[in-house]
Amino acid sequence: MRIQADLGKCEGLGMCEAMANDYFEVDEDEELVNVLDDAPPESDRAHVYAAVQACPVQALSLQG
Ligand code: SF4
Repeated sequence: MRIQADLGKCEGLGMCEAMANDYFEVDEDEELVNVLDDAPPESDRAHVYAAVQACPVQALSLQG
């Protein structure tokens, strides 16, 4: 499983960080998401998926 972030869509709203701050962090200067670990273990799928789904502009996706 791999996290993909489309920085062209990201608006720095921080919902992903609020849901999973172990995987996502919003850069305060750039107002863009920084994926801290783009290859989560399978055991974290539900946790990461909830954060991906929380993005209001569909900037995040899970591959695999
Ligand atoms: S929730 Fe979406 S728009 Fe907001 S910081 Fe995360 S990826 Fe960017």
